Amino acid sequence: MADSIRALVEGTEVATRPLSVAILGAGAAGLCMAIKLQKAGIGDFTIFEKAASVGGTWRDNTYPGSGCDVPSMLYSYSFEPKADWSRKFAPQPEIVEYFEGVARKYGLLPHIRFNTEIAEARFDEAAGLWRLRSASGEEFTANVLISGVGQLNRPAYPKIEGLGDFKGQAFHSARWDHSVDLAGKRVGVVGNGASAIQFVPEIAPKVGHLTIFQRTPNWCVPKPDRPFKPWEKRLYAAVPALARLQRWWTYLMLERNYLAFVQGSFFGKLFERAARKEMEAHISDPELRRKLTPDYPAGCKRILLTNDWYPALARPNVSVETSRIAKVTGNAVETEDGVAHPVDVLIYATGFESTDFLAPMKVTGRGNADLNTVWARGAEAHRGVAVAGFPNFFMLYGPNTNLGHNSIIFMIECQANYIAQCVEALANSRLRYLDVKPEAMESYNRELQQDMQKTVWAAGCSSWYKTADGKVTNNWSSFTARYWWELRHPDFAEYALVGG
Ligand code: NAP
Repeated sequence: MADSIRALVEGTEVATRPLSVAILGAGAAGLCMAIKLQKAGIGDFTIFEKAASVGGTWRDNTYPGSGCDVPSMLYSYSFEPKADWSRKFAPQPEIVEYFEGVARKYGLLPHIRFNTEIAEARFDEAAGLWRLRSASGEEFTANVLISGVGQLNRPAYPKIEGLGDFKGQAFHSARWDHSVDLAGKRVGVVGNGASAIQFVPEIAPKVGHLTIFQRTPNWCVPKPDRPFKPWEKRLYAAVPALARLQRWWTYLMLERNYLAFVQGSFFGKLFERAARKEMEAHISDPELRRKLTPDYPAGCKRILLTNDWYPALARPNVSVETSRIAKVTGNAVETEDGVAHPVDVLIYATGFESTDFLAPMKVTGRGNADLNTVWARGAEAHRGVAVAGFPNFFMLYGPNTNLGHNSIIFMIECQANYIAQCVEALANSRLRYLDVKPEAMESYNRELQQDMQKTVWAAGCSSWYKTADGKVTNNWSSFTARYWWELRHPDFAEYALVGG
């Protein structure tokens, strides 16, 4: 790697120089990046974290039943396996505990500035420095800026007439208000995505009545979950190769599932068949079945893995309302069919501001370019990690890197490896900055969007994977193995290398 950059920076004297790195966010991505920098010998890094602890979206999503729908053997770093996951799909507290343990083990805590939200980042081209300002006005500098804020960090609140007039209690699923006692209450849940399907079965037995305001039904398939037996945990601990084998097997099985996301594929039909069978096993009311059957191909929105969603919907104290919400009044949700549904508590399970990526942070690159303006027609990046005109700036879990079929931790590791090599190249040269060439980024994205047209994500449904205009800005378009292959080493010919 150092050789390839040497060859490109002709006549440049190569010498290691001190280099500082700012990482934004101490979630799965930020922590992984810090460890990869440590391994590359880059010790001067600071992680800026807006909250008081690590774990990112896993720290924030404390709703009842919160957990991962990707098997934990794979939803963990390849370099930090855990032999004793309690079950195949770990619950949220165990996932947070895992990331906290990783942060401690790798000595990352002294590198983290907690309660520090970066509000502005401006590239000073002459100095080759990112100048950062926190929300409370503190200033910092770094040679390299790496965002690990991801796609699912800011809750999206619905825009519904009268929400402000509601007199009951209301909160978002990603900011669960544990002080609200739901026992015996009339609860309204707006939305029925991956979050709602996890907490509704938990709260349904406690509440008086629960009304789910569903806009679009989802394809739901059984989740092959179970606790690990004590002997399995002992075996994985004693024979780490077995745990690795299990991880690889899980990876291959999930990777195969990508085939289901190609439009019109036979494998997609298998998911739909499994989902119908699951629904028919639990829902006997033909009208409810009709309401719950999607009219778009499986995978266009995230396929949901659950064993208790349909049984919860079949409960006598749960109803699914499909007439759209017209407005909210002091004590009820009124639907477009003119019915008022009285509610004491309103829970917004309405997802995240996923297509805004780094907003509301203001990121200013060369020539005063504003990242949010550059992305006004939909975010894009080179290989999901770099943006032309924003030198020495990299992203983890950036545009077009989300998945519908495999573990995002795998993608984050690919990105962290790639970015660490870029940072190493900067440290080992007298380059002031690396800036991806606009033409490289443009051709990469043209091909990616062409590829995307073959996938169900581009099919006719709305989802958090795409902008209001229909551009898929969030998902990777192919197998993760292809992504790994493309990112295993940076091609520095794709970058403008600016010395001095
Ligand atoms: P989501 O999948 O974006 O679902 C949001 C829900 O709210 C949808 O049902 C949406 O309806 C509805 N909605 C939004 N605005 C509305 C409005 N104004 N009126 C009525 N309904 C409205 O959000 P999420 O469930 O929080 O999940 C987001 C992502 O987080 C997941 O896809 C997943 O990647 C991640 N997540 C992962 C896990 C896991 O197990 N790994 C668990 C939870 C979340 P429409 O469908 O009609 O838009």
